[in-house]
Amino acid sequence: MDKANVVIIGGGVVGCAIARALSARWDDVFVLEAMPRVGMGASTRNSGVIHAGIYYVPGSLKARHCLRGNRLTYEFCAAHGVPHRNTGKLVVAVNDSQKPQLVALMENGRRNGVEGMRIIDRAAIRAREPHVEAMEAIDVPSSGIVSSEELVKAYARVATEQGTHIVTHAKAERVEARKDGIRVVSAAGEIEARCLVNSAGLFADEVAMMMGSSLARHRIWPVRGEYCEVVRAKSDLIRGLVYPLPHADGLSLGVHLTKTLWGTVLVGPTARYVDDKNDYECDREPLEDFAKNAKCMLPELEVADLVAAYSGIRAKLTPPNEHGIADFVITRDPELSNVIQLIGVDSPGLTSAPAIAEQVLGLTQEILN
Ligand SMILES: Cc1cc2nc3c(=O)[nH]c(=O)nc-3n(C[C@H](O)[C@H](O)[C@H](O)COP(=O)(O)OP(=O)(O)OC[C@H]3O[C@@H](n4cnc5c(N)ncnc54)[C@H](O)[C@@H]3O)c2cc1C
Repeated sequence: MDKANVVIIGGGVVGCAIARALSARWDDVFVLEAMPRVGMGASTRNSGVIHAGIYYVPGSLKARHCLRGNRLTYEFCAAHGVPHRNTGKLVVAVNDSQKPQLVALMENGRRNGVEGMRIIDRAAIRAREPHVEAMEAIDVPSSGIVSSEELVKAYARVATEQGTHIVTHAKAERVEARKDGIRVVSAAGEIEARCLVNSAGLFADEVAMMMGSSLARHRIWPVRGEYCEVVRAKSDLIRGLVYPLPHADGLSLGVHLTKTLWGTVLVGPTARYVDDKNDYECDREPLEDFAKNAKCMLPELEVADLVAAYSGIRAKLTPPNEHGIADFVITRDPELSNVIQLIGVDSPGLTSAPAIAEQVLGLTQEILN
């Protein structure tokens, strides 16, 4: 049986960023990934937005990790040749009644430490986005976009260069606490670790349950987000990132318009609770619904300009019919002293990954030193 200092269950953007941080410090770091490649879950099924940190409750892990992760992500991308662009973003009010919400959102961002935001008027919006119709907008200069596929690959590549063993086709099936470590039985074999990190994304609650952790009470509710793409002939309608105000109930940031690094425009994601964590395609939302949402900001867009694109599934901790944005759960397990649990890492997890990795590095130090 292999012996490891650290075993990380889950090779998404968070697991790979953690592997990069830990392998700079310790030998024998293993990532067990169930799928044939890293990053096949939410990590590459998202908007690819480097968030600024305006939406989250001040002082929460989401607020702190998003803000720090924003800076660290830009630095990492620049250092490792990951395609990205600091586009800035507009969050728009489409009528007068939305203006107070815009101001409140900007104030929340300021409390989180987001710098450089300002409210701009219709003329300034049109100068930046000539086809967008809105009364006012928050200009958020630190937002940007990144190729999420390349970002995950780059974290994994650096981790591997530092000695991390990334094992794919290695679904963790059983986890047992031992006297001085943890034994993991996976589809690729058995391994014993001095420290175990549960970074299994959508399935992190099930992995926690597998090891008998009380943190499994944080149930993950799958919330699907679907995207459409605007046909090439109309992709000049949008130049950057244009967001509506977020859902008041915290369900999502709203269906937004994203100019990708390769020049296409995405409309989405929607937000709908689904029963099955693997259900990406069943019963897709009609194109008319996307057009209706997008038209509020982009009146020239027609249903005929849209084609269905991919979807992703959020790992939400908020049950259906409950309001609010639940925070990330990132902690040492209260009963299993050499286990670190990450549960409910939904948006802004792509942005936050390097900051989450710093927190996990600190927790791992407590266990291994
Ligand atoms: C529609 C959508 C849009 C989003 N937009 C953004 C955005 O623009 N910006 C942003 O910052 N964030 C965004 N997010 C959030 C972001 O994508 C996630 O927070 C992030 O990808 C979570 O990464 P992860 O590594 O925790 O999870 P995942 O990517 O799901 O990785 C977990 C991995 O664990 C593996 N796994 C599961 N169970 C096991 C097991 N038993 N054994 C071994 N491996 C296992 C899975 O195969 C998977 O590869 C979005 C999310 C969605 C769904």
